[in-house]
Amino acid sequence: PPPVVAVVGRPNVGKSTLVNRILGRREAVVEDVPGVTRDRVAYDAAWGGRRFTVLDTGGWEPNAEGLAAAVADQARLAVDAADVVLFVVDATVGATDTDEAVADVLRRSKKPVVLTANKVDDSRAESDATLLWSLGLGEPLTVSALHGRGSGDLLDAVLHAL
Ligand code: GDP
Ligand code: MG
Repeated sequence: PPPVVAVVGRPNVGKSTLVNRILGRREAVVEDVPGVTRDRVAYDAAWGGRRFTVLDTGGWEPNAEGLAAAVADQARLAVDAADVVLFVVDATVGATDTDEAVADVLRRSKKPVVLTANKVDDSRAESDATLLWSLGLGEPLTVSALHGRGSGDLLDAVLHAL
């Protein structure tokens, strides 16, 4: 089977928008209301002549321990299935407690992680992303999933990590 790229992160950071960008078509459901992706959903994708499966995640409800714990649980499941993890953070918001909970899960896993700073829609927003070095997962790669900015370089990094 082709390798699996799991897209993880808290609700509303743009995971499904990024999945659609990777697919080059609109299949993953994008919503302004956080948490609309009902389950983990797998799609066939290709880049640079290489095929892979991209796994969109979401749809969790905050559990008894709150949203951060629920998102971290979901990230754990996705990571188990993944060869590479694409961790999406909203650069316009910065690292939240929930992002840090996911980063902990990812640092403990031995899987390669590509840290993605999304919603960098123009060059002025680039500097916001430098704060995401604090997550301890290396260099944040800046993209705009909505407009496509940086998505080619991101996919190159994902394939490099496979
Ligand atoms: P998910 O919950 O992480 O899957 O997030 P979605 O893909 O559903 O997106 C949540 C919201 O963020 C939607 O309103 C998207 O249009 C918006 N969004 C996603 N990517 C970008 C981006 O690169 N720039 C901007 N400005 N908005 C984005
Ligand atoms: Mg989604």
